[in-house]
Amino acid sequence: MRDWQDLHALLNRIDRRGYKSYKDLEGTYRREDFVLNIDHVQSDPFASLSRVRVSVSQTKAGFPPELFSTQVRRIALCDSLVRLFSEQIRRHARGHRGTGHSGLIVIDRCGQEVLNRNAVRLNESSVEARFGIGLPAAGRTVLSQEALAMLCEEIPTIVTGSLFYNNLDADAVLRHVETVEDQEILRSQLKEKKLVSFLADSSVLPRASGVDDRPLHTAEVVSLKTPSSLEVELHCPNRGAVRGLGIPEGVTLIVGGGFHGKSTLLRAIEQGVYNHIPGDGREYVVSCPNALKVRAEEGRSVCQVDISPFIGPLPQGKDTRSFSTENASGSTSQAAGIMEGIEAGAEVLLMDEDTSATNFMIRDHRMQQLVAKEKEPITPFLDKVRLLFEDHGISTVLVMGGSGDYFEVADTVIMMDEFVPQDVTSQAREIARNTAVQRRPEGGGSFGKIPNRFPDPTSLSPGKGRRQVVVEAREVLTLQFGGESVDLKALEQLVSPSQTRAIGRFLVYATRNHWNRGCSLREALELTRKEIAEEGLDLLSPFATGDLAEPRPLEVAATLNRMRGVRMR
Ligand code: ADP
Ligand code: MG
Repeated sequence: MRDWQDLHALLNRIDRRGYKSYKDLEGTYRREDFVLNIDHVQSDPFASLSRVRVSVSQTKAGFPPELFSTQVRRIALCDSLVRLFSEQIRRHARGHRGTGHSGLIVIDRCGQEVLNRNAVRLNESSVEARFGIGLPAAGRTVLSQEALAMLCEEIPTIVTGSLFYNNLDADAVLRHVETVEDQEILRSQLKEKKLVSFLADSSVLPRASGVDDRPLHTAEVVSLKTPSSLEVELHCPNRGAVRGLGIPEGVTLIVGGGFHGKSTLLRAIEQGVYNHIPGDGREYVVSCPNALKVRAEEGRSVCQVDISPFIGPLPQGKDTRSFSTENASGSTSQAAGIMEGIEAGAEVLLMDEDTSATNFMIRDHRMQQLVAKEKEPITPFLDKVRLLFEDHGISTVLVMGGSGDYFEVADTVIMMDEFVPQDVTSQAREIARNTAVQRRPEGGGSFGKIPNRFPDPTSLSPGKGRRQVVVEAREVLTLQFGGESVDLKALEQLVSPSQTRAIGRFLVYATRNHWNRGCSLREALELTRKEIAEEGLDLLSPFATGDLAEPRPLEVAATLNRMRGVRMR
């Protein structure tokens, strides 16, 4: 370990030299208040950032043990420290100076969700922040004075303002931790209460805009009001009793006129798989952790999926018990999405008519008369949604403003009326009773088999050119995995590029540790998830990075299922 003075001396020595001299900085430097690790220095100012870590011992950082006494508290505390660190960067780093990324200091970006990230790690002995810096250059020439300002002034100020408990707003940190803990505990009660989702009264569901996930704050916001017949009361340790809308297990329909808030309600349920920060408006909106949004996705590839519960033999005798295509249709993609989701462990399906294939959702009496069942390979979801619950315990929440055929199969019908949910279950039942159904049920008396596939590890190669592992994610919905760019635009519950990156790493890890010895797709997901819970996200990466956030196994599987090179055994 080197002394802090060594850093000054080194920087002064390499001033005005070529950029590669920055490599000499790699190493560990001790100050009185923290230790700086310069782990990896890029040899070019245009390359991605150089990786550094700062670590403060708990004797100096002083975080009270009760703030990280459980896994969820620790995740919440680390999440709040990433945000505070980021805020300090915004305030104290001068930012871009020189060529390429010169002057940048960047830590993992946080949105409205509280995720398990490795940008800040904390335990009984220390707290560590991991971030990237762009060592400054003019052209490719080292600018030591600028580097000194970053490393010896800006970074110490940022660290002082974010990693020492005494310098923080203790109430805000505690509120962050307690709010997250409450959500986790609310979510854990759903199953015993036979609910798939819970949305507290007064929650703010709409977002600022289609591209801004912060809460909508205008005079027109209608906060959530629960109809008394669907009201439930849950308890959480910090806030106490919370009342709100309970969405029961089974089949739930969300109906209502256009623009009355149907999709917004479903979107809140989708995102309820995550915990949210205080002030988000959805702090007490929680859903079953394995609730999966499924949509139609024309053009995607499908690899050996049994979609026969929904789609019978196709024209030209194509077998749908092991269905593959490079170019799925709306209906086959939605069928595959459901079957793959169930294979990976989905317990609740969420679907919106806005993003569903009509011929997959419904097939009415008139169409049954015109096109004989023998000529229509599709059994609509309508005929399977109850069986899915009865045979396999999988619930569905469906936005369906356009067809009353679903009244027959729904346990609960919620109508959105000017953004206010109403329980219209009994009216819908009555309408169903009074208007004779001439429609014939299709698709038989059972749901059908759930797939259980075995990925071929040789088809999952992350290498590209001379590099053994290429896993990159510049944006949330595209993963670069080896030579392939995987399109994830249909994964509406992915929220951070750090999750996407972790998915790539997860796939590499599961291939090398589980699929290589013949595990099923599902088994490897479950094993890897457990290993991450025990050892942390660093398990996925060969060196210390701060750019990973934990994905759900459901999104890992969904990514694998969209890789065009993948094969099953
Ligand atoms: P639908 O799916 O019924 O057509 P949306 O959920 O898309 O309707 O909502 C329509 C619009 O109303 C969106 O712009 C949305 O942001 C806004 N909105 C949704 N819920 C609320 C609410 N509770 N208060 C105010 N505006 C809302
Ligand atoms: Mg809609």
